[in-house]
Amino acid sequence: MDAELSVIGSGPAGLSAAIESAKYGVRVELIDENILPGGQLFKQIHKFFGSKKHYAGVRGYDIGWRLLREAEDAKVNIRLNTTVWGIFQSSNNRIGLFDQQRVFFSKPKRLVIATGATENPLSFPGSTLPGVMGAGAVQTMMNIHRVLPGRRVLMVGAGNVGLIVSYQLLQAGAEVAAVVEAMPKIGGYLVHALKLMRTGVPILTSHTVLEARGDKEVESAVIASLDKDCRIVKGSEKELDVDLVCLAVGLKPDAELCRMLGCGFTYVPFLGGRVPIHNEDMETTIPGVYVAGDVSGVEEASVAMEEGRLAGISVAESLGYISEGEAEKEKDEIKERLRDFRIGPFGSPRQEGKDKILTEYKRWFSNEGKRDS
Ligand SMILES: Cc1cc2nc3c(=O)[nH]c(=O)nc-3n(C[C@H](O)[C@H](O)[C@H](O)COP(=O)(O)OP(=O)(O)OC[C@H]3O[C@@H](n4cnc5c(N)ncnc54)[C@H](O)[C@@H]3O)c2cc1C
Repeated sequence: MDAELSVIGSGPAGLSAAIESAKYGVRVELIDENILPGGQLFKQIHKFFGSKKHYAGVRGYDIGWRLLREAEDAKVNIRLNTTVWGIFQSSNNRIGLFDQQRVFFSKPKRLVIATGATENPLSFPGSTLPGVMGAGAVQTMMNIHRVLPGRRVLMVGAGNVGLIVSYQLLQAGAEVAAVVEAMPKIGGYLVHALKLMRTGVPILTSHTVLEARGDKEVESAVIASLDKDCRIVKGSEKELDVDLVCLAVGLKPDAELCRMLGCGFTYVPFLGGRVPIHNEDMETTIPGVYVAGDVSGVEEASVAMEEGRLAGISVAESLGYISEGEAEKEKDEIKERLRDFRIGPFGSPRQEGKDKILTEYKRWFSNEGKRDS
């Protein structure tokens, strides 16, 4: 049976969107290029933070299994090992797929794009040497394939990803020589920083990596401290004996499919850079195409799940599976929970970012209206 909704990406956002819409009767297909659904969740061996409703204290991969069981119970058709390589607005949002054997197309009535985020790179002399890796790749090797990518590590970046992956490296038996952070303050949650500090790992703020050295692979790395204008302090250079330089210098929305489709974009630095414009119900500037999770602005799994639910209910409503009144009630509750996430020093810049996206959405249609008239 043809799917009415295709959800692209089976991380917490995609799984939640698929579960929610299928619960109301929508025929849903969930597509992921990986052989296992769950997105980032299956790499996360630590207990999640957040609220109880959002699985605080539960390990990431356990959250993934729970969502997966819910998706199966809701009769979501899960298509793995399949990449969506294109979406074409000119043919009514037809999507192009490749399942490792054949290229084929499908034309669902609605789309939820939940493709997550990609890692920011960092260039420096030696950054192309084997042994310089992104934190995502390190996690995949360590926690999925059970391969330790290095024995002595320099971590670059003290945001949550840098701190958590450093701790996971210690748990896997590696030694973390140092964590360097260019900003004068640790970017991640204190709870993760303290866990690391207790093990004796130095977290050096106002420090950066200058160079990775080695003949055929990383054998050492040079770090240095930075002054208040982010200039290198001469004479502060120090060479560390490491075989892995792990980069955790931020994520940006993996929004290539939205770009290909012609969705409107806006720039919100605190949400990872260029993000697809969307309304409060997660619908982009292309009617019938929704986004959810990190692709709509990099935040957290708990937010990704709520945004996925929001998109799923909106799709069910737009297809007539749920009345407007019932949908509004459900959506209002989710929107309130999302507002609760986006308060405090970490949360409020995200709320400001989302408010900007909403303003851009309204402006987009008023401009379009002017162009049309
Ligand atoms: C080290 C680390 C620790 C974290 N800890 C926490 C925490 O404690 N608490 C918390 O709330 N959050 C945490 N997060 C954040 C959380 O993991 C992410 O915010 C969340 O996974 C985003 O969900 P998502 O569904 O948007 O994307 P993802 O989980 O990234 O899923 C996207 C999926 O889309 C698939 N995909 C992409 N493109 C295509 C395509 N073209 N075709 C088919 N499939 C495609 C990918 O394969 C992937 O499976 C952590 C993240 C990291 C990296």
